[in-house]
Amino acid sequence: MDKAEILAALRAPEGEALFAQARAVRAETKGDGVFFRGLIELSSVCDRDCLYCGMRRSNAAAHRYAMRDDEVVACARLARELGFGTVVLQAGECPALWTRRRVAELVRRVRGETGQHVTLSLGERTEADTAAWREAGAARYLLRFETTDRALFARIHPGAPVGGEHPRLAQLRRMKAQGYAIGGGMMLGLPGQTLESVADDLLTLRELNADMVGLGPYLAHPGTPLGRDKTPSGVPVDVDFTCRCYALARLLLPHANIPSTTALSTLDPANGRLRGLSSGANVFMPNLTPAAYRADYQIYPGKICVVAPQADAIDALRADLATLGLRQVTG
Ligand code: SAM
Repeated sequence: MDKAEILAALRAPEGEALFAQARAVRAETKGDGVFFRGLIELSSVCDRDCLYCGMRRSNAAAHRYAMRDDEVVACARLARELGFGTVVLQAGECPALWTRRRVAELVRRVRGETGQHVTLSLGERTEADTAAWREAGAARYLLRFETTDRALFARIHPGAPVGGEHPRLAQLRRMKAQGYAIGGGMMLGLPGQTLESVADDLLTLRELNADMVGLGPYLAHPGTPLGRDKTPSGVPVDVDFTCRCYALARLLLPHANIPSTTALSTLDPANGRLRGLSSGANVFMPNLTPAAYRADYQIYPGKICVVAPQADAIDALRADLATLGLRQVTG
């Protein structure tokens, strides 16, 4: 697909033909299996001041927490009990808290004590950090590039360079060379974002040969500068548009793992998750963060969490899958 075809699919009056095509490609490359990956939100402490994120450093109203390592390992044990194969360790960006050595040790413990694969999502980190974690057994890293529009990226990430290589794309390329399976992606509906730039984002995912794609709607947080910004977006914040992007990602990267994201479920709590799967996604990421911390990982308001510790919540997800002819697989 080229940019004109992508734009035509994003603008078409209706998306069902595209979704059907994406389902057919997923069936060919992934069969009927859906991976469940346990999301563990390690901490809400963040050094960064991203204009859109409720955990930004300047948001004095945000309550901050950090999990202990033994709590993280206990969550990974729960993931194993629930039949998951992978945990995703995500946190606000804070190298002083999540030091190279501490994360390496945590990865070793999770691998050794629970057998779970480890995906890291700890933001922009040095080449030496990611090398050490790869060495410790982390095989995958998620880092959304958020947008390939350099001016927009610089505007919403204070301190980011305006020129030169996109810092997050640079890190993703470095990690690919280090042997990671890499996940990139973007937010949809940022103020000032254009459809053309979303088409570029999708083409960039293909150019990166991304192994995983994390994309979802931008949800305004009133406690952030971007949340109060009334600049219109050229990109809709809605379920249909998000699903078109999943479908296009599936066609561009037939083998990629694509989660139906929490942000999509937040937009449409009743159907969002399944609509994502109906448009080519093949991963669920139930939230395994302990209940005492979960509300404080507030990147946007009203975040819907699949409350995983209750096995019946996972059973309900499995039943949802069955309605689409899909089933949980471990990996
Ligand atoms: N610090 C790590 C990083 O930057 O990759 C991981 C945590 S960060 C909170 C994870 C993702 O949350 C970001 O990549 C961004 O796409 C998403 N996010 C943050 N604020 C959001 C918002 N208001 N609406 C939708 N997604 C948001």
